[in-house]
Amino acid sequence: MSGDAQERQHAAAGIAAEALRHLLWLEAAGVREVPVPGPGDAPVSAPAPTAEGPAGKSQPRHPAEAMAPAEPAPPSRRQAGRPGGGYGLGDKGCGSDALLAAREELGDCTRCALARGRTNLVFGVGDPRAALVFVGEGPGEDEDLKGEPFVGRAGQLLTRMIEAMGFRREEVYIANVVKCRPPGNRNPEPDEIAACEGFLKAQLAAIGPRVIVALGKFAAQTLLRETTPISKLRGRWFEYAGVKLMPTFHPAYLLRSPEEKKRAWEDLQLVMKELGKPPPRK
Ligand code: SF4
Repeated sequence: MSGDAQERQHAAAGIAAEALRHLLWLEAAGVREVPVPGPGDAPVSAPAPTAEGPAGKSQPRHPAEAMAPAEPAPPSRRQAGRPGGGYGLGDKGCGSDALLAAREELGDCTRCALARGRTNLVFGVGDPRAALVFVGEGPGEDEDLKGEPFVGRAGQLLTRMIEAMGFRREEVYIANVVKCRPPGNRNPEPDEIAACEGFLKAQLAAIGPRVIVALGKFAAQTLLRETTPISKLRGRWFEYAGVKLMPTFHPAYLLRSPEEKKRAWEDLQLVMKELGKPPPRK
């Protein structure tokens, strides 16, 4: 895509993001109807940009806007990118043109009901060309607040598991089946998975990993369209989106059931073997 086309795409994304923010704010302010100018009303022209920012910021265009809180936008809106609503290669999980395109396509997504409860959309994190991708179920509270997958206690354990395999966390890619936190950490509903799973597939197509590790019962069963318990799925190779997939226990489960760490480590050793990683020294 040419530089001009990219600029136009960013500008269009910015306008769409701004319109969405305005609609969401109107909804939050309880505004149900917006007056439409009649034939006798004076034409509305776009105010000129001012020193205070974009056009019209210092002169509200709608009575509801005059009531708008003068606070910074909430974190999810701030995370929605740079001024204009675009994203960049430096944003979490967007380190290649293909990942960036997937992130831009997601935008400030409202494709399913999970959008309503999130603080941050949690896209992913890690090496855009990782050989190894970990996929969990969905963001929890810590992840929702930070906008990054696996950052709570379970995330710390996952980091130790990755390091035990001989990788650094930055050398793998980590994502979830759904990108927004399900309320009360419930399992995502089928329609929410259907709305979101295409973006996981886009991420995997962009990264081109050699192995996916599905973390926990929900991620494994969802990706494999299986109802078999994780205790029977783990330790066996499957395929997802053309990539070898190894299910294993979720780190949060391992925190509750440390006696299962040994079996999870066996699964990860199979992955190491597949990737040609030497076994750790005894
Ligand atoms: Fe969009 Fe996925 Fe979040 Fe649903 S879970 S709102 S589809 S990003």
